Amino acid sequence: VEPPPSPLLLLEPHDFPPWAYGPREFFKFEVLHQSHKPGSKARVGRIHTPHGVVDTPGFVAVATNAALKGVDWRDAHRANQQLVFCNTYHLMIHPGADLIEEAGGLHKFTRHAGPIITDSGGFQVFSLAHGSVHEDLTSQGGGGSNAAAENGGGGGGELKQRRQRRRKARNGDTSSAPTTSNSNNNSSGSTKMVKVTEDGVWFRSYRDGSQFLLTPESTVLAQKQLGADIIIPLDELPGYYTTRTKLQESLHRTHRWEGRSLQTHLQQVKNQAMYCVIHGGIDRQLRTESVDYLTSLPFDGHAIGGSLGNGRHELKELLEFLLPQLDSTADRRSKPRHLLGIADEESILNAVPFGIDTLDSCYPTRVARHGTILTRTGSIKIGSGKYGRQYGIPLDDQCQCSTCQHYDRSYLWHLFKAKEPLAITLATIHNLHYMNDLMKSLRDKIWNDEI
Ligand SMILES: [Zn+2]
Repeated sequence: VEPPPSPLLLLEPHDFPPWAYGPREFFKFEVLHQSHKPGSKARVGRIHTPHGVVDTPGFVAVATNAALKGVDWRDAHRANQQLVFCNTYHLMIHPGADLIEEAGGLHKFTRHAGPIITDSGGFQVFSLAHGSVHEDLTSQGGGGSNAAAENGGGGGGELKQRRQRRRKARNGDTSSAPTTSNSNNNSSGSTKMVKVTEDGVWFRSYRDGSQFLLTPESTVLAQKQLGADIIIPLDELPGYYTTRTKLQESLHRTHRWEGRSLQTHLQQVKNQAMYCVIHGGIDRQLRTESVDYLTSLPFDGHAIGGSLGNGRHELKELLEFLLPQLDSTADRRSKPRHLLGIADEESILNAVPFGIDTLDSCYPTRVARHGTILTRTGSIKIGSGKYGRQYGIPLDDQCQCSTCQHYDRSYLWHLFKAKEPLAITLATIHNLHYMNDLMKSLRDKIWNDEI
């Protein structure tokens, strides 16, 4: 039974308590250096959270089920991984936000001491319904080089997606439940996956088909139970191919939802910071409207979400347009900026000069599980026969990670060929370390005004 629709209520800055606009004692972002390179907006900073610092620009690893697949948290720490991203959608369905709260929250439950960010769950609900943004694009002939969403610039085509989905289904990976790919029609009931109302979004559990209603309030309460350092309000993820009218409707609904989420959050802050999610697709007028509205509310940081364009070029153009707006006042400049779901190397190099502070992607850890090793001289497929006799040669001879310090290419080749689980552990530790080294080198370059 559906509840009656709520009135269309867009919260205004004065609807929030004055103290919410002041500094937080548990969360602080400091800009340590602003690049002097002409035209550059790059900056080096540090986010202080109750569970440690995040050096920025920083890579955020994805730990969907409160685990970096195959990697001990202590090894992730040794690979210099600071902030990690856990997915509320998955954790709500299993083991449940109640259980994690009972265990003392995510940090105690996982014994992971570092900073954690959780999303609202909305992204998963919508991307399961749409297919991913990537499939939405490829299924309509949009090309396979999209940098958006969870694919992190992995590229490929529909065939690869289908193969990945099959593989994931075999491995019991829950992020690939059977989906429809209807992106523009999600409130018509033609897909049983989601139904959007003013209250929130209805979806079915991939585990037992039971119905859930995710609302701006319920996601915040669940994220309070999980206890991450940074939380995200509920937003709607429209498909890339949608009409402007629908995109505008969706944006306004997202703004109402984010306002309600923030209000719920501020009733019980619990030492958590909340970032807004700026939407509007690649429509510049709507993006500007989103920046203007969301930066007027007392959020602790600014995340950039929604469709970020078809391919890395459109992403770059969008950031070139959007980031100066987040830099236009001292108040806007003082907030950390997070790019949601994109952190392949090329996109990182494109985004950092515009002043992006953190980026998350499952790309480096996902490709590690399939034997793709990121190195300073390009990525290698370690399962290839040519590595079988590379005795004594580390994956990357400049890498200080525990894998490269102790093992060689030959052994890693063998582990992948023999499908030993240790292969995934060792490769993922290396890729995490590699990404964090990459970010460190970018920070050094910004300090030297080279970026
Ligand atoms: Zn290494």
